Amino acid sequence: MCERCSGIRLVSLFRSPREYLQTVEYIKQLIAGGDFSLVSGNCPLDEVQDKNGRWADDIIYHLIRCNNCGQEFSCCVNTYRGGGEFAKGR
Ligand SMILES: [Zn+2]
Repeated sequence: MCERCSGIRLVSLFRSPREYLQTVEYIKQLIAGGDFSLVSGNCPLDEVQDKNGRWADDIIYHLIRCNNCGQEFSCCVNTYRGGGEFAKGR
């Protein structure tokens, strides 16, 4: 990790849907700020939940990368059983 990504706010366990949605907003800010890029994901970051509150999938996954050093961070949530994390690595 480098000075740009060492301060990233990681979450070891999502305790609520709200905490996951806040993390998705945070990831969108990181990408909009220009220091991170979206590598992959199984739905657009803007569409993890539709306007009726339905989740895009049982497992929602996004991978981002620090543009400066290449370190990857993954955000994964289980919308069916609960749980998930925003963590360093894949
Ligand atoms: Zn970095």
